[in-house]
Amino acid sequence: MRIDIATLFPEMCETVLSESIIGRARKSGAIEIHCHNIRDYTLDKHRRVDDTPYGGGMGMLMQAEPVWRCWLAVCELLGKPPHSIYLSPKGETLTQQKTIKLSQKENLFLLCGHYEGIDQRVLDEIIDEEISIGDYVLTGGELPALVLTDAVARMCSGVLPAAVCFEDESHFNGLLEYPQYTRPELWHGESVPEVLLSGHHLKISQWRNQKSLEITKEKRPDLYAAWLEEQNAQKE
Ligand code: SAM
Repeated sequence: MRIDIATLFPEMCETVLSESIIGRARKSGAIEIHCHNIRDYTLDKHRRVDDTPYGGGMGMLMQAEPVWRCWLAVCELLGKPPHSIYLSPKGETLTQQKTIKLSQKENLFLLCGHYEGIDQRVLDEIIDEEISIGDYVLTGGELPALVLTDAVARMCSGVLPAAVCFEDESHFNGLLEYPQYTRPELWHGESVPEVLLSGHHLKISQWRNQKSLEITKEKRPDLYAAWLEEQNAQKE
């Protein structure tokens, strides 16, 4: 998979995406990520990319032309339009199921807004969908784009050592993960649950499933109810 991020702050994105698991996955070629500076696509001699909103109001708005020219350059590089997403508080909230769907795309173009946002006309022309990372407003789309990139990338083959790494985790099957423990066996007077030391794989698996259900029911009754509904629907 290839992800192209269009931003006014490419260094901010590069810094994060060069580290740890995603950084290693980029180096190994398991995933390709490119950050583009929208400012490089302005025709303004002062490299301006924003202007005041028509109708008045506080703040500045990103202009359509540099965003469109940046998107066009990516289309030319790819030889076709990528699936294009605008990170926006008005979008559909990102979920694990959504990241799985997006990880199946060949190309993603992620557009980061800044200031008060972006001229609607270019969004209408190039954007396939808007995605939000939650019901709050950030100063820019960079952190949301990084969140989305990280969540999608780890679903791509070759990024994590094996699919079981994410299939066992919270949200993948609609439940939250069971508690986990590592050495030492006794810490601050608390010992690791006996079953985890037994080496009995079936019992360990049953204990983990049970804990997963209990934790989801307690912490996220909404998820638990949806999971139960899904189980009942599968039985019918
Ligand atoms: N005026 C916009 C509004 O009220 O909907 C908010 C603009 S926000 C200050 C600047 C940029 O940050 C947005 O264009 C968007 O790209 C990004 N952004 C802010 N909050 C976000 C969120 N919850 N999810 C995704 N992107 C967000």
